[in-house]
Amino acid sequence: MQNRKRIHLCLAHMSDGGLEQKYIKEAFDTNWVVPLGPNVNGFEKDLEDFVNTTSHEDTKNDKRVVALSAGTAAVHLALIACGVKPGDEVLVQSFTFCASSHPVTYLGAKPVFIGSEPDTWNMDPVLLETAIRDRIDKTGRKPKAIIPVALYGMPYDCTRIMEIAGRYGIPVIEDAAEGFGSRFNGRVLGTFGRYGVLSFNGNKMITTSGGGALITPDEDEWRRIMWYATQARESYPYYQHEEIGYNYRMSNICAGIGRGQMTVAEQHIAHHKHVQALYEELLAPVAGVSMHSQPQPQPGAEYDSNYWLCTLTLSPTLRIKGQEDAYKTVVTGAVGGAAGVIHAADTATTDCQPNDNVEALRVWLDKCQVEARPVWKPMHRQPVYRHAAVYTNHIEEDIFKKGLCLPAGPYVSDDDVRYIADCIKEAIVRE
Ligand SMILES: *Cc1c(COP(=O)(O)O)cnc(C)c1O
Repeated sequence: MQNRKRIHLCLAHMSDGGLEQKYIKEAFDTNWVVPLGPNVNGFEKDLEDFVNTTSHEDTKNDKRVVALSAGTAAVHLALIACGVKPGDEVLVQSFTFCASSHPVTYLGAKPVFIGSEPDTWNMDPVLLETAIRDRIDKTGRKPKAIIPVALYGMPYDCTRIMEIAGRYGIPVIEDAAEGFGSRFNGRVLGTFGRYGVLSFNGNKMITTSGGGALITPDEDEWRRIMWYATQARESYPYYQHEEIGYNYRMSNICAGIGRGQMTVAEQHIAHHKHVQALYEELLAPVAGVSMHSQPQPQPGAEYDSNYWLCTLTLSPTLRIKGQEDAYKTVVTGAVGGAAGVIHAADTATTDCQPNDNVEALRVWLDKCQVEARPVWKPMHRQPVYRHAAVYTNHIEEDIFKKGLCLPAGPYVSDDDVRYIADCIKEAIVRE
């Protein structure tokens, strides 16, 4: 077991032909080693072709895409474009990675957190509408934007969220950072709202080492976002600034990686779905363990998740070997890998954490050389957001206590999935 090669959650995987290196070499050979250039333009064109294809409808999208240095930068610029100012409120799905909400705080605005529905784990449309009405009652003003998140790739209920947002005239910024290539009713996520956020961090569906993109509605918006992303310079021969801008454009080197990755994007997505199907098959007979799967297709609501990470929940009554020792030691390493943990924790526990059996399974899998990770801790339970308003039925808190992410990346073989399923079965205490 100890000699086995470690199985990671989701590692970067380059194209077989080494196209990434070809594009990077071209950038060096032609001296385009800057945050603009042929690779950036080519990558944006590839992304536009990708997001504008629809498999069901006749109406073709004509979205424009700006490539940026990070997905977080894309969220930030979308908020600026929605006119978010200090003191404004933005409705954000609570169950998410911090990059969905932190940029709201960068702007001096306030995130108001929305709880999840049980089926998709994403923003509950009923809570969304309750929150909109209550915020208008309490503050006399409408929230400035709505940010649903495609958690682990799963689409949110696009129809109902867009309908509610439309009725109240509030723009939607789709955080599809984890949902690259996921579809709802045949249409790619990120193309339903006014803006769509993508991420190409090292562990996402495709990578540029680090990077992101913003899907924008039209040519005018594309220009405006581009202008903000390049220090908001006015067109004079000298540097004239009438507004504050940002240095958020993607580098031509990173975009070269992106162009190569676009040739394997569909392959990656198909692989993640295949791994999910295999987990579902192998774990279906295991009592107390449930894979999180997309809702069954219904007329007008067809979910097509990319299964960026495969996730399961453990019944609280299931006993896992070693669970009596869960949380006995302070974690010193980096839980979750690449993101790293810089601050050392001074306590082994917090007032909101996964159940003991989930932590025990994580530790068990770790010893089996399998990287597993708790699901995102809801933002409204994060100490840094303790003063934020929240509208919740506590569904996401319950999932946080029961959930675990399993490896799903391109390097995860069928044999690995079988091994992981066996490890999970082994970990269960049979009475
Ligand atoms: C990864 C991610 C982002 C963007 O992250 P970057 O690392 O800045 O590219 C945004 N939202 C969610 C939900 C994410 O998982």
